[in-house]
Amino acid sequence: MIKITLPDGSVREFEKGTTPMEIAKNISEGFARNVISAKFNTAIIESSTPLHKDGSLVLYTWKDKEGKTAFWHSTSHIVAQALEELYPGVKLTIGPAIDNGFYYDVDLPEGTISEKDFPSIEKKALEIARGKHDFKMKSVTKEDALNFYKEEGNEYKIELIENLEDGTITFCDHDTFTDLCRGGHIPNTGIVKAIKILSVAGAYWRGDENKPQLTRIYGISFPKQKELTEYLALLEEAKKRDHRKLGKELELFTFSQKVGQGLPLWLPKGAALRERLEGFLKKAQKKAGYEMVVTPHIGQKELYVTSGHYAKYGEDSFQPIKTPKMDEEFLLKPMNCPHHCEVYNFKPHSYKDLPKRFAEFGTVYRYEQSGELHGLTRVRGFTQDDAHIFCTPDQVDQEFMNVIDLSLYVLGSLGFDNFTAQVSIRDPKNPDKYIGTVENWEKAENAIINAAKEKGLDYVIEEGEAAFYGPKLDFMVKDALGRNWQLGTIQVDYTLPERFDLTYKGSDNELHRPIMIHRAPFGSMERFIALLLEHTGGNFPLWLIPEQAIVLPVSEKHEKYAEKVLKSLENSEIRALIDNRNETVGKKIREAEMNKIPFMLIVGENDEKANTISVRRHGGDDLGAITIEEFKDLVTKEINSTLKSF
Ligand SMILES: [Zn+2]
Ligand SMILES: [Zn+2]
Repeated sequence: MIKITLPDGSVREFEKGTTPMEIAKNISEGFARNVISAKFNTAIIESSTPLHKDGSLVLYTWKDKEGKTAFWHSTSHIVAQALEELYPGVKLTIGPAIDNGFYYDVDLPEGTISEKDFPSIEKKALEIARGKHDFKMKSVTKEDALNFYKEEGNEYKIELIENLEDGTITFCDHDTFTDLCRGGHIPNTGIVKAIKILSVAGAYWRGDENKPQLTRIYGISFPKQKELTEYLALLEEAKKRDHRKLGKELELFTFSQKVGQGLPLWLPKGAALRERLEGFLKKAQKKAGYEMVVTPHIGQKELYVTSGHYAKYGEDSFQPIKTPKMDEEFLLKPMNCPHHCEVYNFKPHSYKDLPKRFAEFGTVYRYEQSGELHGLTRVRGFTQDDAHIFCTPDQVDQEFMNVIDLSLYVLGSLGFDNFTAQVSIRDPKNPDKYIGTVENWEKAENAIINAAKEKGLDYVIEEGEAAFYGPKLDFMVKDALGRNWQLGTIQVDYTLPERFDLTYKGSDNELHRPIMIHRAPFGSMERFIALLLEHTGGNFPLWLIPEQAIVLPVSEKHEKYAEKVLKSLENSEIRALIDNRNETVGKKIREAEMNKIPFMLIVGENDEKANTISVRRHGGDDLGAITIEEFKDLVTKEINSTLKSF
């Protein structure tokens, strides 16, 4: 018999050779129908893999990330079979699952694959799927594996196998198809009910541009047709909301090849929006006891060697800047933390001074390969809403709660109401991996978990996910399209205080190490604004949006009155503009709609007589004629409903 530990901690005994699927059936037949993959101890296995020893077992369904991975990877085998049948002589290379779907890199014997070929590939793949063929893993010797692909003339698989050790090589069979694979499949092809080929791109073998160029086919699959339909609708919506497209249309930011890739240029409207976001956070931070500091964009190389950032960002990032005469080396700052440690060090501290909370909108620079750059979400220079809290071990609890309060305030004011928290703690089986005393780790982990509980967060604890230098809490925010973004990390750090020899004098008159907490509710201003653009589709909360209202005179005759309305709004700090071009009101409204201006204030004959404005809401709602004062009240009320004071 073998002892199997299940995720709820229960231990059950089974005959040696029992499979995860049999165990699932033993738990419940209904549950077993949904099980598609499994993990035994640390290895992802098939639900049909016989178990021969004691261990812990997790069973996955489509709802789990691991289940999706198995599902999509298995579909890549099905698509590969379809490609072999449709394009005889095609050479297969690798076909992994990715975040949303899978790809397969292939070497086509001739010609290309383009969008018009997708339906025939989908059709063939679905035909194969419907055959309900089992995925069956088998071990092969290195010699047999090599012979199999030599016969096929597939130099790519041969290269892969040559790098594997004999005794570890496995093939996966289904239907008439065989592929070199280390495993992790769903039980059979029949579970795949909908397949969509999404795009095709060029990719170099092993990502090396000196190696042959292959054709990469991206796809996705689902257990229900309905889920594919929903996914495609979401993709359509995401295209419309793409922050690169909206940023251009709304004139928020741009990029210039002359300035350089990955270096955003903020246009006046975007810069003003950023300033409003910064002002909003600065105000709340001030109330929360933060002090602003300003530090330079570069620092001596030694600074980052001390902090350990050189080891992480040195070789693979921007190279040091050298001074012309003296042999000095500076680095573009990849992180603000080392600078803030030196700010802390400017004078000795006593426990009575703590906590110290230093905040800075600090711009940092990190090299990203040009292929990795993406709008504002992957850039080479970005600004963090950074702050570092230096406190005693006993203060971590309260400081964590304060930072959570601030993060919740930020998320709430910007319309994010769907989020969870992820608490990353040590792997208790590997205590040597971490620096800092066990006592402080326990204190900090408990502080984080208590704070999450106290603040009523919906949280999960991830064992072993903590960085070696301290535990952390991340907010996982779901946007309007159901996508998850990691925002607002709060990280405890024992390393930097050590490396920078930070101290404070305790009540015992001895020197102690403070604990450092890194936190950034927005993360990076660039990435945050990108997320906000895609979440709101450009319809930012009224307090933040570049233009809150536009005055639209019906004809030239009413221009004067329109100007008067504009002045009055400006005097009340409502961001408004006027469209007095010689165009029809219909056209002016259409353009204002495109520019996502929340209020259109139409003024004509009757308005001028009655001293009113006819208000139209973005999206079509007519609010009728009201006085300017009534309109101002309306704006204030709406702003106050989202932007509470901290
Ligand atoms: Zn596979
Ligand atoms: Zn930091």
